[in-house]
Amino acid sequence: MSNVTVAEFSGWGRHPVVTGRQRCAEDLERITDGAVLSRGLGRSYGDASLPPPGDHVVAVTTRADRLLSFDRETGVVRAEAGLSLAELNRLFWPRGWCPPSSPGTQSVTLGGMVAADVHGKSHHSEGCFGEHVRALRMRVADGRVLEVSDDVEPELFRATLGGLGLTGHVLEVELRMRPAASPWIQAESERYGNFDALVDALQAASEDWPYTVAWADLLSRGRARGRGILERGRFANPAEAPVSPPTPKRTLAVPMVVPFFSRATFRPLNLARYWARARVRRGIVHPESFFYPLDVVGHFNRLYGRRGFTQYQVVLPPRSGRSGCVKVFDILERMGATPLLCVLKDFRTEGKGMISFPMKGLSMAIDLPIRDHTQAVVDALNDFVASEGGRVYLAKDALTRAEHFRAMEPRLDDWLRVRRTWDPDVALKSALSVRLFGDPS
Ligand SMILES: Cc1cc2nc3c(=O)[nH]c(=O)nc-3n(C[C@H](O)[C@H](O)[C@H](O)COP(=O)(O)OP(=O)(O)OC[C@H]3O[C@@H](n4cnc5c(N)ncnc54)[C@H](O)[C@@H]3O)c2cc1C
Repeated sequence: MSNVTVAEFSGWGRHPVVTGRQRCAEDLERITDGAVLSRGLGRSYGDASLPPPGDHVVAVTTRADRLLSFDRETGVVRAEAGLSLAELNRLFWPRGWCPPSSPGTQSVTLGGMVAADVHGKSHHSEGCFGEHVRALRMRVADGRVLEVSDDVEPELFRATLGGLGLTGHVLEVELRMRPAASPWIQAESERYGNFDALVDALQAASEDWPYTVAWADLLSRGRARGRGILERGRFANPAEAPVSPPTPKRTLAVPMVVPFFSRATFRPLNLARYWARARVRRGIVHPESFFYPLDVVGHFNRLYGRRGFTQYQVVLPPRSGRSGCVKVFDILERMGATPLLCVLKDFRTEGKGMISFPMKGLSMAIDLPIRDHTQAVVDALNDFVASEGGRVYLAKDALTRAEHFRAMEPRLDDWLRVRRTWDPDVALKSALSVRLFGDPS
């Protein structure tokens, strides 16, 4: 049974918050009928998974979580779109398989991973999630249910990878898993005292390691700004298997919204994170600890104060690269923003989706608590990033203006054309599509 209930929706950033109606049940074909949007576990940060203003129904997919088939010869798996990555990992890691691409949290659904065409620590070695998706079963705006792939309706397929739910509701996902030599990760982390050294190390590690990522401390000033920690890893060989297997770290949860937030709250955390480890650390760890360190703190999004936060994630092309990142840090400092977490990734390729976020270059993701001037900060950053030929990641975004996104995205008209072909009356929409593409609400 599916009842329509009134709900408050927000993304992981807790900004913005909107009221709408939701339908949640096992039968995705039924609950998506007449819905303006599908929503998974709500781990996009901004307004991508929120309904537009007005009386609209959102289909919440999380109860449609069945695994439908698996071919142990090829690693091809088919599942309902509401299956979580956590469940996929739980089933497949011990059996010698892993998802080729996985974001920084496992609390996401397959449908959400398709719709954001997510990237992970393996982006330089595996590309985005969409590279590994073989087919989708989806409901399009006129109500038809179609199977799409590189061979059948290829334009719709590519527009849906990274299309943020605006080209149709994904009902089932077929993807190819990767063999994993063991259920453990051989991980190394290393501290670097300045930003240049950190970026050099990240790019060098990406030549040899399938998984890389770096964390930079932007709360330190002067030469120390941008120092940080590089993490690299690979699945361990069976011979390296530990005598006593590591277990995932115990999770703690932030019990309530921390009422106020300040630079002083986070600076000691950053200092501790930087200094608490040995300069170089090596060891076998559980994949959860390696891939999803942030999941250890449940509801960490409550730490950023009552008004919530946004994550500003952009990629800058190689010609802008690290000097572009430094200019972004300068803008943040000049405007008095408080950049908390800053995660760097080395992207090597463009995604397969028509408006997938990644392209070759350096990606940085920076948490910014919402304050009165945050819109002005994002505007200034977007002015700069657009002028450098960079792009913003919409799955994290709540504040980018339509004109900035258009300036960053030469592929937009092509994607809008495909979207219009399949949905001329704009039956599918979101708060994001009203903000960025001028959809009527
Ligand atoms: C701690 C944390 C770390 C993260 N790290 C990364 C990272 O490293 N890389 C990365 O790429 N992303 C990252 N993300 C973002 C996250 O992976 C994406 O936003 C993902 O889309 C969230 O999936 P979800 O199931 O929660 O989808 P939701 O947030 O519910 O929805 C996201 C989008 O997908 C659409 N959608 C969801 N289900 C369907 C469906 N069945 N059919 C059609 N459209 C659908 C929604 O309409 C919306 O546009 C991170 C998020 C968090 C909270």
